[in-house]
Amino acid sequence: MTPITPIGHYIGGRVVPGDGRTQDVTNPATGAVTGRVALATAATVDQAVAAARTAFPAWADTPPIRRARLMNAFLALVRQHKDNLARAITAEHGKVFTDAQGEVERGIDIIEFACGMPQLLKGDYTDQVSTGMDNWTLRQPLGVVAGITPFNFPVMVPMWMFPVAIAAGNTFVLKPSPTDPSASLIYADLMKQAGFPDGVFNVVQGDKVAVDALLEHPDVKAISFVGSTPIANYIYETGARHGKRVQALGGAKNHMMIMPDADMEKAADALIGAGYGSAGERCMAISVAIMVGDAGDKLIPILKARAETLKITNGEDLSAEMGPIVTAAARDRIRGYIDAGVAEGAELVVDGRDFSVPGHEGGFWLGATLFDRVTPDMKIYRDEIFGPVLSCLRVDTFAEGLTLINDHEFGNGVSLFTRDGHVAREFGRRVQVGMVGINVPIPVPMAWHGFGGWKRSLFGDMHVYGEEGVRFYTKQKSIMQRWPESIVEGAEFTMPVAT
Ligand code: NAD
Repeated sequence: MTPITPIGHYIGGRVVPGDGRTQDVTNPATGAVTGRVALATAATVDQAVAAARTAFPAWADTPPIRRARLMNAFLALVRQHKDNLARAITAEHGKVFTDAQGEVERGIDIIEFACGMPQLLKGDYTDQVSTGMDNWTLRQPLGVVAGITPFNFPVMVPMWMFPVAIAAGNTFVLKPSPTDPSASLIYADLMKQAGFPDGVFNVVQGDKVAVDALLEHPDVKAISFVGSTPIANYIYETGARHGKRVQALGGAKNHMMIMPDADMEKAADALIGAGYGSAGERCMAISVAIMVGDAGDKLIPILKARAETLKITNGEDLSAEMGPIVTAAARDRIRGYIDAGVAEGAELVVDGRDFSVPGHEGGFWLGATLFDRVTPDMKIYRDEIFGPVLSCLRVDTFAEGLTLINDHEFGNGVSLFTRDGHVAREFGRRVQVGMVGINVPIPVPMAWHGFGGWKRSLFGDMHVYGEEGVRFYTKQKSIMQRWPESIVEGAEFTMPVAT
């Protein structure tokens, strides 16, 4: 029998046990229940927001350089505990350990960026905007801000948010996914060890009840959300209705277009890694290949051979290339999509439906699945499947491929493989997608560039992290000042102009 660990909240600098509903947490490679996560009530959310609100005034008043020093201490601790965090990810999400280490590394990038907050918060100053008068702008924190995050990056996605928000002077309440909640308590503890005052960073575990309590709470000033498109849309509308700033990142259907002149071996490597890495459960996974001209005839045999021989096993095995699917329900949903693709007439080149790992029969397994001759009207092309299913479409021209991409409802990431610089330039300029890779399959922007899709992949107008992240978590104030005495006598009723 695997011991079942209770997983609580982290409020005001200490772990707070749940007091009501719970949800089972499973190891997807074995199917065993390993934890029981608390699901917060509105009262627990209120407690977390109150802790954050109490901590806010002193934290906002702490000089940015001192906030950044604590962030530096946190950075060192996360580096030191990188493998603990990666192990927690693999145990509850299922992704392979080396991929989990990569996830933590990309979170570390954002912490490093947040350590530069004193520079990022620097305002603008104009001397003598009018005679004897100066004008400057500064950015001030919002107050209590909240993050609601998905299962697929339990460390990296929260770290897109809280290091930036906190270094900018806000206090934070995180509501992670209940599917893989354990990592959140590890980094909450590291924040405490780094010296952040109690209440600056809080975690409430939970589901829709906790999310709705955050959305409606008058003391929560901004919401950052990452998850599926229907929920992102709901978060955006509900948060806005309650007067909050909202950035809500949604789902994806990322295309890779392969031109006939591309290096087919490299394109195949890219498709296999970006299509099946993390079992396709990445918002930047490639789930559609658009093969131009004869690219399909060259690529499909290579892809078939590689997909069939992918090393799929428990992610703790260091030779694993792909792990299990996160839950039994997700596996069944993905299987349903494969059935639908067959029924709609797509050509099933590699079928991952009946796949199991000897010794791990209770795990949630699916093999890599490859469809050829998919058409734009098919459900497997239109919907986000979020699993190890790669759909290939064949088109005659670059223009046809570009139209397909631009007509799709999602616009998160996209990639083009070619050797032609002009085609690459045209693609970069004309594609209606937020993050573009040229001969790069997964173009997740670095910490100082910011992450965000277009169309129904992002609701709100600011990307996460980077300078847009800093703007999202701060409000601009303009101050005009005249010393030591006013040169204007009497009230002015006309628009003030420079004198
Ligand atoms: P999800 O939308 O089911 O859940 C995301 C968060 O919302 C979780 O914290 C969850 O508890 C909460 N939630 C779920 N249902 C809710 C409801 N009805 N009301 C209020 N809150 C609710 O997403 P997921 O399955 O955890 O993650 C996968 C999805 O996230 C995929 O669609 C993927 O593309 C997307 N994603 C997007 C990005 C991006 O940057 N655009 C990054 C990672 C994941």
